[in-house]
Amino acid sequence: MDRTKHLIIGAGPAALAAAKAIRNADKSADIKLVTREESLPYSPAMLPYLISQELSEKDFFLKGRETLDSLGIQLVRGKEVVALHPEKKEVEYAGGERETYDKLLIATGAAPQVPPVENLAPDQVYTFRTYGDFERLSKNLGQNQDIAIYGAGLVAVEAAEKLCHAGHAVTIIARSSLLRKYFDPHSVAVLEKAFVKHGGKVITKSTLAAVGKKADKLELKLGNGRTLIVDRLLVATGVAANLVTGGLIPVAAGGLMVGRHMETSIPDVFAAGDVAAAPSFDDSQNAPCPILPEAVQQGKVAGANMAGEKIEYKGWIPGNYLRCFDEHLFSVGTIDATPADGYETFEKTDGDSFLKLVVKDGLLAGAEGLNQKYVHPGVFHYLIRERVPVGEYRELLLAKPRETACWLMTRHRADRAI
Ligand SMILES: Cc1cc2nc3c(=O)[nH]c(=O)nc-3n(C[C@H](O)[C@H](O)[C@H](O)COP(=O)(O)OP(=O)(O)OC[C@H]3O[C@@H](n4cnc5c(N)ncnc54)[C@H](O)[C@@H]3O)c2cc1C
Repeated sequence: MDRTKHLIIGAGPAALAAAKAIRNADKSADIKLVTREESLPYSPAMLPYLISQELSEKDFFLKGRETLDSLGIQLVRGKEVVALHPEKKEVEYAGGERETYDKLLIATGAAPQVPPVENLAPDQVYTFRTYGDFERLSKNLGQNQDIAIYGAGLVAVEAAEKLCHAGHAVTIIARSSLLRKYFDPHSVAVLEKAFVKHGGKVITKSTLAAVGKKADKLELKLGNGRTLIVDRLLVATGVAANLVTGGLIPVAAGGLMVGRHMETSIPDVFAAGDVAAAPSFDDSQNAPCPILPEAVQQGKVAGANMAGEKIEYKGWIPGNYLRCFDEHLFSVGTIDATPADGYETFEKTDGDSFLKLVVKDGLLAGAEGLNQKYVHPGVFHYLIRERVPVGEYRELLLAKPRETACWLMTRHRADRAI
């Protein structure tokens, strides 16, 4: 019997998870990963740890290398897919070469978007998404440099922290405020204080309007009228999905529309990870959820279904975990809820620690914590995903979050096992 040919575009976490799931289900399948990069597979979430040298380059690629070797998966590097020809079950590479597939997974992730800035030349700007971005940044970074980071999301903040630790003077330029979409203003204020204590600066409510040259430095003109002189400029204002399909697959909220089996509208073509607009857990609306755990989960589901199993994706739940300057922040699920939508919010603040629980119809909808060191966000994630009733325990959950959340989870698991 012919071996099924699984072609996976991409070599990030979604691609690797899919390849593993295919191999689990089909020992003889032909599995090929194609990436436009020259490197082995890796997880971009680990890039900040290369800056701080908490991770060596060898370890950065270790998991990807081991997965390929142990599962007999082929990796093709330096090839970019530019088009899809579903009628012939082929993909087309830059340069015109084509390749056939039986099952195809699009796991192409997303790429940084640099907003228009007057006089900004491409060689003056650094982005931080790929290993190539890291290589370019680290090659051109001197010692103790002045670095501006334009953007205020998780990538901007993680990069800022590691660059501060590496001895650089970092200024974040935020169009609104730091981490506005992810955490409560109280948590953000504590984090900002820690950043300033470590020599960083945050300029909020300002855009980067124009860039000029001043000797071998950059002169940044901000929308608020201020001028900054820096050695390097890193832009982390957001990403856009690498769609690659030229409009053949419908797009929702910027990602490729997929159903609960991670299937697209084209037979035998699946999508997973940051490129996919999968249904959400709470309202089934399709949108990308560009975080590592969901990329892995979507990859697993896609791979299993490509190999002929029938597995449903339960939907994404937003989740952010940040350990930064010794401050621990997390948020899971819906945290910006209003009573008008039927949500109840319970909070407690104690100095630099904070906990917020969001409950709807007796179920946990979201949780957010600052310096709740002994609380595991994964347990809250479980309570949300498994729809564990928490209504009558909500005060206890707020007062003793670690013990109560673990007890509710354990009890739920035991009930299910009966
Ligand atoms: C600096 C940084 C820190 C992060 N920190 C966290 C974190 O703490 N927690 C968290 O949950 N998430 C974090 N993330 C997000 C997380 O890394 C992504 O959600 C995850 O990598 C998505 O995986 P993916 O496989 O979908 O895409 P990617 O990892 O982006 O992989 C995409 C792959 O597709 C390839 N590709 C793209 N286009 C083509 C093409 N046309 N042809 C061939 N190959 C192509 C790429 O080369 C790459 O191999 C972070 C991201 C960054 C950049």
